[in-house]
Amino acid sequence: MAITSIGILGGGQLGSLLSLATKKLNIKSVVYSDDRESPAKNYSDDFIYGQFDDRNKLNFFLDQVDIITFEFENIPFEVLDYINKKKNVKPKPEVNKIVQNRYNEKKFLNKYKIKTTEYCEVKDLSDITNNENLIPGILKTCTMGYDGKGQIKLDDINSVKSLEIEFNQKYILEKIVDLKKEISIIITRFGKDNFEIYEPIENFHENQILRHSIIPAEINNEIKSQAKDWAFLIAEKLDHIGTLCVEFFIDKKNNLYVNEIAPRVHNSGHLTLNSYNVSQFENHIRAVCGLEKVKLEKIYDAEMTNIIGKDILKYRGKTFKENEFFFDYLKKEIKENRKMGHFTKLKK
Ligand code: ADP
Ligand code: MG
Repeated sequence: MAITSIGILGGGQLGSLLSLATKKLNIKSVVYSDDRESPAKNYSDDFIYGQFDDRNKLNFFLDQVDIITFEFENIPFEVLDYINKKKNVKPKPEVNKIVQNRYNEKKFLNKYKIKTTEYCEVKDLSDITNNENLIPGILKTCTMGYDGKGQIKLDDINSVKSLEIEFNQKYILEKIVDLKKEISIIITRFGKDNFEIYEPIENFHENQILRHSIIPAEINNEIKSQAKDWAFLIAEKLDHIGTLCVEFFIDKKNNLYVNEIAPRVHNSGHLTLNSYNVSQFENHIRAVCGLEKVKLEKIYDAEMTNIIGKDILKYRGKTFKENEFFFDYLKKEIKENRKMGHFTKLKK
C-alpha cells in the first residue's frame, strides 16, 4: 500500500527540512518531539509534543502515520524498538544501536577493515594512563555527543592528572589526527546494492562546530574513490535504508580515516537542497517510503555556511541574489554556538 503519511522523531532543523521534502512528494508529515518549542512545528503538517518514554503519547502519534523515521540518532534503542513493533521504523533500530555508541561504531568499522583513528575504551583513569601513546588525544563520551559536546582535549599526560571526571559513563580516548582536511559523503540507500551517492563534501569546522561545507572537495581521485567505497560498504553492512552520512578525516600524509557515521540526513548535506536535482532530504523520504529512485545530477557547485548564534540577525531581512539561498530555522531563542540557519551560495 502506498505510504501517505510519515512520522518523524525529533523536531530540529533536520526534522524541518525532512518535513518540507514530504510536501513535494504529497506525503503528510507528523513530527514528534520532546521539545515544545521545536522549530519543525513551523514546517510539518502536524506536531505532537511528548517525552520519548510516554507510551500513550507515542501510541497516539503512531496511529496517525504509516511509517516512522528520525532526524537524530540518540533516541534510546528501547524506544525505537517499541515503535518498530507497531509501525516500521526506517532505518531499522539496530542501525542506531551500533552508531549511537562511539565504541561500538569504531568496532563495527574495524571489523570491515575500515580505518578509524586509534582509540581505546575508557572506564576509569587507569585506562588513560595505560594508553599514553594515544595522547595528545580527545576523551569523548561514548554516547550523546554532538558539535564537540562531551569532548575533552588531553594535550599531555600531565593534563590527565588534573582531570575531574566521575567515570559514571563510558568514554573513548582517541588519538588526535594531524588534520589536513575533513570531508563527508552522503549516500541514500534504497535496498541491496541500490543507492545514490553525492560527491564528497569538504567541511570546515570552528570550535568543533561545522562552519562551511563546499563542493567540489579538493581531494585526489584515490581518496575520493576510497571514501565512496567505504560509505557504500558502511550503508550496505548496516543494511541501512534512507540517507546516511560518513564523516572522514584526511591527515597530512593523505591517510583517510572514518571519523563517525550519522545514520540520517546531515548538516554537511544542506547544500544538496540547491545544488542537486534531488536533495538528501527528498532522497531520504523517497527511500524510506519506497518511492522511485531518481538518478542524481549535480546542477551547480556550492558553498554552505552555517549561521551560528546572533549572526542570524544579519541575515533576517537581507535581500539575496538569485544564486543565494537563506534558510531560517525559526528557533525561538538565539544562543551562543546554536545553529540558527544556513546560507547556500551556488557557483553559477
Ligand atoms: P561530534 O559528534 O561532536 O560531531 P566528532 O567526533 O565528529 O564529534 O568531533 C567534532 C570535530 O572535532 C571533528 O569534526 C574534528 O574537527 C574534531 N576532532 C574530533 N576528533 C578528532 C581527532 N581524533 N583528531 C582531530 N580532530 C578531531
Ligand atoms: Mg562529527
